[in-house]
Amino acid sequence: MPAESSGYDASTPLAREIADLSKRRRAVVAAEYPLPHETRVFTIANQKGGVGKTTTTVNLAAALAKTGAKVLVIDLDPQGNASTAVGADHRSDTPSVYDLLIHDLPLEEVVQKSPEFDRLYCAPATIHLAGAEIELVPMVARELRLRESLDGYLQRSADAGEPYNYVFIDCPPSLGLLTINAFVAAREVLIPIQCEYYALEGLSQLLSNIALIEKHLNPKLAVSTILLTMYDGRTRLATQVAEDVRTHFPAQTLTAIIPRTVRISEAPSYGQTVISYDPQSTGALSYLEAASEIARRGAETNG
Ligand code: ADP
Ligand code: MG
Repeated sequence: MPAESSGYDASTPLAREIADLSKRRRAVVAAEYPLPHETRVFTIANQKGGVGKTTTTVNLAAALAKTGAKVLVIDLDPQGNASTAVGADHRSDTPSVYDLLIHDLPLEEVVQKSPEFDRLYCAPATIHLAGAEIELVPMVARELRLRESLDGYLQRSADAGEPYNYVFIDCPPSLGLLTINAFVAAREVLIPIQCEYYALEGLSQLLSNIALIEKHLNPKLAVSTILLTMYDGRTRLATQVAEDVRTHFPAQTLTAIIPRTVRISEAPSYGQTVISYDPQSTGALSYLEAASEIARRGAETNG
C-alpha cells in the first residue's frame, strides 16, 4: 500500500490506519490455517436475534474454505439468511434441512456447493423449516435427528476420501427443537457477542441452557469460542463490553474483533460473504484473522 512508500507523514491518523491495514493484510496471507485432525462441528448460538450469528457463520466458513479447509454450513434458521449469503438455492421446492429432519433425506441430497469457493458447501434452509419446530415434537429421538444424519454423512465423506474439516450450524434466535438439534449435533459452541449493548446479561441464560444440554443430551458440548462483533471503537460502550467479556471469558474470547462495517452488511444482498465480496476490506480481514485463530487453537487442542 502507498502509505509506506509514498512519503506520507506517517504520524497522521489516516496514514497510520493505512499502514496498519496493509500490515494486517500481509499477516492474514502469511498466517497459518492448520487443518484439524477430526471434523470440528460448531454451532453458532445466541438466543438474541441480530447479534451477528449468521454473518459470523458464513464469513468464518468462507474464510476457512478460502484458506484450504473443506467446510459445510448447515442453515437451521427458516429465514435462510445463511443459505442466501453463500449463494445456495433455497426456494421452497429445494431439498433442504427440513427434508433431512422430517423425512430422513440424506445430506448427500441436500448439500449444495457454494458458487463462491470450491471447498464451501451448504445444506440450505427453506421456508418449510418454520413448521419443523412443531412437526418435530411427536417424533422419535426428536433432539437427535440432525446429529444422526450429520454423523453418517461425515463418516461417508471421510470414507470416500473427502473428509470435511469444519461444520458450522447457524441457529434461529430461540431455544426450540431446531436449536437443540444443533447443540446435540455439535461439539463446540461459538457465541458471537455484539459490542453494542450490555451483552453479558443475556449470556448467563444461554450458558445455563448449554449446561443443561451438556448434562442431558450431549456431554461433549463445550463453549470453545467467543467472538466480539459489530465493534465500534469510537464508543465507550463497545470498549467496555469487549473488556468485560475478556475478563469473564479469557480463554474463549478470540483476540480478533469484528468491526461494524458497511461492507459486511452489504455482502449478503449480492449472495456473497464479505470474504469474496470485498476481500481487501477490514471486515474480510477481521474474519480471516478470527478464522486463523480458530484453526490454530484447534490444532493445539487436537494435538
Ligand atoms: P443474527 O443471525 O444473529 O440474527 P445477523 O448476522 O443476521 O444476526 O446480523 C444482523 C444484521 O446486522 C444483518 O443485517 C447483518 O448484515 C448486520 N451485521 C452483522 N454483522 C455486522 C457487522 N460486523 N457490521 C455491520 N453490519 C453487520
Ligand atoms: Mg441469523
